[in-house]
Amino acid sequence: MEGPGLTPKGADQRRQRAWRRHADRYGAASTYEGWRLVHQRYLADQLAEALDLAQSLGAGQAALGLSLYRLVEAEALTRQLAHRESVRPWLMLETIHEELTVTPDELTRWVLSACDEVAAKLQWTHGPPVLFTLFAEAANTPWTPDRHGFCVDKVPYTKICLPWYLQSQPEEFAEAVRHEYTHVVMLHLGQGRVPRWLDEAAAMTLGGQLEEAALRRFIRHRESWLDPDELDDAYHEDREDREGARVVSAAYQQSAWLGRWLAQRYDVAGFGELARRCAPAGFLSELRLRIAGQDPADRALRQTLRRSMTQVFGDARDALVNRNVPDGS
Ligand SMILES: [Zn+2]
Repeated sequence: MEGPGLTPKGADQRRQRAWRRHADRYGAASTYEGWRLVHQRYLADQLAEALDLAQSLGAGQAALGLSLYRLVEAEALTRQLAHRESVRPWLMLETIHEELTVTPDELTRWVLSACDEVAAKLQWTHGPPVLFTLFAEAANTPWTPDRHGFCVDKVPYTKICLPWYLQSQPEEFAEAVRHEYTHVVMLHLGQGRVPRWLDEAAAMTLGGQLEEAALRRFIRHRESWLDPDELDDAYHEDREDREGARVVSAAYQQSAWLGRWLAQRYDVAGFGELARRCAPAGFLSELRLRIAGQDPADRALRQTLRRSMTQVFGDARDALVNRNVPDGS
C-alpha cells in the first residue's frame, strides 16, 4: 500500500535507463523533458498544471508516461471536486463531502485517532505537514496506479491518498491510515534513508496486516524467502502483471513477518529508533559507512540488536520455520 507508481518495472526499467542514457548523451528529448516537468509539478502537488502538461504530451516514450498521467489525473480530478480543511496545524484533509458516507467530523476523528496511535507507539511528535486525501469515487478505476492507497513525499507536505470505498470499512480504514502514517514518520525520522523492506515492516506491523496464509507459504517454499536486496527489488515488480502482483504481495508479507519479529525482539518503538539510526549521522560517521560499503539499515541493526541485516533476515526466517504454524491454506 505504498508508492506513487512512478517507478518503472522490470523491462520498462531497463528501457527507461536506456532512454535516459540516450537523452543524457544527445540532449534531453522534448518528451523526456516534458515528463520530467510533469513529475516536478506532481511532486509540488500542482495537479491542474501537471495534468495540462501531461495531456499535451501523449503517452510518452514506450508509453512510460501513462502511469504518471493516470496518477496525476486521479489526484487532479479529486482536487477539482474536493473541499480542503486544516484540522490540525500539521494535518489537512481533502475530501469530497457529497461522496462521504460518514460525517466530515467522524472521518476527521478516524484519521486523527489512527495517526495518534502511530505517534504514541513510535514516540513521534506530530509536526511535519501532511495532506490526507480521500480519492474521488471516479478515481477508483482499474488504471489508477496504486489506487488502494499510498503515501508520497511532496512539497510542502507528505501526501496520503486512500480510496473512496475504504470509508465504509472503518477497521480497514484505520489500518490503512496507520500503515501510511507510519511511512510518514519513518520518512522523517530516517530522512529518506530507511530501506523499503524496513519501511514496510514498520507499516505492516503498525497497520496490523500480517496474513497467516502467506506465512505458511514461506514455510512450505523456503526458497521464496528473499534476502534484503532481493526483497527491496521485489517491491518494484509490475503489480498489473499476475506474477508481478504475486511477488509484490509476498514481499509485503515477508516485511510483515520481519516487522513482527523485530517488534517482539525490540518493541514497536524500536522502529522509530532504527529509522533515526538510518539517517545521516555526521561527516565522519558517513565517511566510515561509505568506506565500509555498509547499508544504513545494516548499521542501525548492528548498533541496536548486535546483528547484521543478513543475520536478522536469517533469524526471522528461522523463527518462522520453527513456529510450526498449522497448515490450513
Ligand atoms: Zn506501505
